[in-house]
Amino acid sequence: MSNDTHLQESKNKFFLEPEIPICQADLPLDWYQPSFQPYAEEYLALPDRTPESVMPWLDSYIKPALNYFGDSLLLLAHYYMGGEIVKLVEQYGGKVADSYVLALQASNNPEKKVIVESAVHFMAETIATLAHEDQSVWITNPKAGCTMEMMAKDWMVNPIVERLKERFGNELLVIAYMNTSGRLKAIAGETGGAVCTSSNAPHIVNWARKQGKRILFIPDEHLGRNTAVQVGMDQAKLVQLPNPIHDGIDWSLDEIDGIDEAEMLLWGGYCGVHTVFSKEQVNWWKQEGWDVLIHPESPLEAVQHADGFGSTAYLWNTVLDAPSGSKFAVGTEGHFVRNLKVQAALKGIEVSHLAEAKLGLQQIGGCGCATMSRNDPPHLAGMLDLLRKGEAPDANHVLAGDTVDEHTGLRSRLDEHERTQLKANAKLALERMITITEEAS
Ligand code: SF4
Repeated sequence: MSNDTHLQESKNKFFLEPEIPICQADLPLDWYQPSFQPYAEEYLALPDRTPESVMPWLDSYIKPALNYFGDSLLLLAHYYMGGEIVKLVEQYGGKVADSYVLALQASNNPEKKVIVESAVHFMAETIATLAHEDQSVWITNPKAGCTMEMMAKDWMVNPIVERLKERFGNELLVIAYMNTSGRLKAIAGETGGAVCTSSNAPHIVNWARKQGKRILFIPDEHLGRNTAVQVGMDQAKLVQLPNPIHDGIDWSLDEIDGIDEAEMLLWGGYCGVHTVFSKEQVNWWKQEGWDVLIHPESPLEAVQHADGFGSTAYLWNTVLDAPSGSKFAVGTEGHFVRNLKVQAALKGIEVSHLAEAKLGLQQIGGCGCATMSRNDPPHLAGMLDLLRKGEAPDANHVLAGDTVDEHTGLRSRLDEHERTQLKANAKLALERMITITEEAS
């Protein structure tokens, strides 16, 4: 493939600009697993990060892997990937999508046998949960985690769910946001609950309400609250649980005000990237004549003041379907907004990041998802080359029920029996979501 082919605008969503760096920051060498370090060393020795330098180096590893695996290989990335790796994945025929679409990629493409994901671990695990037996799922960096998921590890959630079950019995129904490990999705399945995404959360919550259930919404307090308000739930019946990182898990349900009247209990987790948005930022842009769109992982006040809110797919499509001359401030992950800004400019639409509101000392940067950005070109090149050579580390192989410590990279894997059980329950929760979503649409 020539550089011209690499650099041209194509049918792809993204294109690589000549001479513009395609990666923002290099990771230190000791952040790489030992078998990935030779690739990282070569990458760090490249003269710069422009497509002209990076693509030929990537080609030398990725093209042999593409030839070797042929149509059985599927490359995936999430919209929030930093370092513009989304562009690289797409250049090699991969798919870039949100977490709902990614989740279905293995099950909907049975001819793909080797699935390589550049995003966070829970997304790869969800793909693995729905995968067919003869498909294997790999993550380019197992330490790529999610700050929200880190606030709802199974050892934090399990004891609280047990206390809630003792108190409420079969009335309790768990809704697990997609941004959870399979172990939590399995709890949702076991309690008759379902998984949800930011776009289908209202349908899932309404489905639970129709059954007269008491909902535990895990892990994002903001998405839970925004959804409750959206479906018209009385906010007095919405009860916030403590944050496990700040407040621990050694508290009693009797300490929680209003728990017996609660229709929905909100787990105290949040996304570090989205929780910073405020109504002041929204109002500043509106006063400047811009429309504001925001992701519902953001605080309620900011969402209520915005012109529109919804999933990454909603944000992307709303902006790019707008007429030329439109101006949008978008409140979500920074890399996504930067990519959207480039694509929108091609259509004469202006995009800024919501956090760039000029609020003096209160101004904060619109950050990217730092944990997802732990996937970079050496991880992608190394993963594909090691897979082709049959030397891929087992730590990068993702099975349902795996959890990884984002700091140490240590993985906990269930035994065969436990995994089968977990997979069945997690799958149940995912399939309920798919059915409810399809029926609603
Ligand atoms: S943007 Fe937030 S919720 Fe999404 S993967 Fe990153 S840390 Fe998790």
